[in-house]
Amino acid sequence: MMQLHDDVSSTTPQDAYERERLGNVHPAGWRQPQPANRYSLVVIGAGTAGLVAAHAAAALGARVALVERHLLGGDCLNVGCVPSKALIRTSRVYAEMRRAEQHGARAPADVRVDFPAAMAHMRGIRARISRADSARRLVAAGVDLFFGQARFTGTDTLTVDGTQLRFTKALIATGARPDTPSIPGLVAAGYLTNENVFDLTELPRRLLVVGGGPLGCELAQAFCRFGAKTVIVQSWPLFLPQEERDAAQLLSDAFARDGIEVRLNTTAVGVRVEAGQKVVDLVSDDYQSTVTVDAILVGTGRLPNVEGLELGAADIDCDATTGIRVNDFLQTSNPRVYAAGDVCLEHKFTHTADASARIVVRNALFGGRQRLSALTIPWCTYTDPEIAHVGLYVRQAHERGLPVKTFTVPMHDVDRAIADGEEAGFVKIHVRERTDRILGATIVASHAGEMINEITLAMVAGIGLGTLASVIHAYPTQADAIKKAADAYNRTRLTPTIRWLLQRWLRW
Ligand SMILES: Cc1cc2nc3c(=O)[nH]c(=O)nc-3n(C[C@H](O)[C@H](O)[C@H](O)COP(=O)(O)OP(=O)(O)OC[C@H]3O[C@@H](n4cnc5c(N)ncnc54)[C@H](O)[C@@H]3O)c2cc1C
Repeated sequence: MMQLHDDVSSTTPQDAYERERLGNVHPAGWRQPQPANRYSLVVIGAGTAGLVAAHAAAALGARVALVERHLLGGDCLNVGCVPSKALIRTSRVYAEMRRAEQHGARAPADVRVDFPAAMAHMRGIRARISRADSARRLVAAGVDLFFGQARFTGTDTLTVDGTQLRFTKALIATGARPDTPSIPGLVAAGYLTNENVFDLTELPRRLLVVGGGPLGCELAQAFCRFGAKTVIVQSWPLFLPQEERDAAQLLSDAFARDGIEVRLNTTAVGVRVEAGQKVVDLVSDDYQSTVTVDAILVGTGRLPNVEGLELGAADIDCDATTGIRVNDFLQTSNPRVYAAGDVCLEHKFTHTADASARIVVRNALFGGRQRLSALTIPWCTYTDPEIAHVGLYVRQAHERGLPVKTFTVPMHDVDRAIADGEEAGFVKIHVRERTDRILGATIVASHAGEMINEITLAMVAGIGLGTLASVIHAYPTQADAIKKAADAYNRTRLTPTIRWLLQRWLRW
């Protein structure tokens, strides 16, 4: 008999966009399908990793069940990439209006921000993109979709709200959730994370952002540009601690230009509520201070969603901090069960969730031997300017005993960046010394996220930096900076002997 699954609890505010999104990602009155005797693949979690795996496996003819306890699309669609990038874009429009004169344009002196309109716009974009992740598409693809919490009951069985599913192979793609820092008083005072910040209907007048990683940096800048008086605290001496120092420094400079109050080397140590306001105690190296704000946004890391899965019943090893333990083929300690995405990966991005899910489909269902370590993974923080990276940092190359030569082009030497008034940043490409083999690159630029893909392609295809010099880049584009770096590499090949030979030839 088919079961009727409980409807999802409503998010705020309810409007036509939200009705469309929820209709796509958790339709009301969902009827659980009649389970098959055994599935070739049962996927737990319908975020990017789960959806990609379910669609790919079903398209290749596998009998697939997908289990989701909340919303199809997971973090990326509902509370991650999509809403954050939509808001970042709108906040950038406001920033550009304020500096219209720098571009020879006129805008009203007092640019008034309509925050509810920005949020409604975001909801519209999210609703539109939710169509791609819809229950309808999954069913049309032949996937049996179950809403509910999955729990393992054996090495090849699990239950979803009392319904047993048997599998030949399973994929755990349950993602991650915000890690709440243990700051006394924080929970009682109330705080925002990515899970509720996109439900705001009013702009907090004063906002404290705790954490200077990608999430904290992106949203601090966006909210500041919407007009919130924003303070960002970061316990490290720089933002984005794993990025190159000069990249992180450029971000600090950009924040200062935006008017964000930057507190580096600073830790929030206590929160209390006074007269309806949140008073936060901060400790820096040598002094203590307080800030009074209307809201606190926490972005201090992510924890894997492994609780409640009853992993022990299926002999699956995991760690509460790093997640499901997998080998290089993404197989867990139970050879029937694999994992992909944020629940097991160090690099928690949508594109790595996608790439790891594809590896699992090949390895689990078709006897593939694809390795996670073979992937070349770029990433980008979508601040203004953006900070993108691929491959090795210099320190990592040195740790591996690789001699490095770096070619750097500042964006203020690139015509398109000058024309666009987007001169902050650089392209920095590292090659193995005396070769043109690209080891890694960092790009700080308005469109760094687009530009890094060219370097990633070169690395994956084994194209050396010298060859990039012979690729014609449309003029004027900001990616011209990459060609300039390649030209700089080629100039190093002009040794005194070659120069002497060329001069002799020309004289002759
Ligand atoms: C604010 C923010 C902005 C981001 N921006 C970017 C960006 O610009 N670019 C980028 O590449 N990445 C970005 N990310 C990261 C990206 O969202 C994640 O890496 C990606 O969503 C991971 O996908 P996933 O499938 O592994 O997990 P998730 O998307 O988290 O999906 C996991 C799913 O599993 C379900 N689930 C969990 N446990 C169970 C269970 N026991 N039974 C059934 N279902 C279960 C959950 O409900 C969820 O739907 C951002 C993240 C945040 C928070």
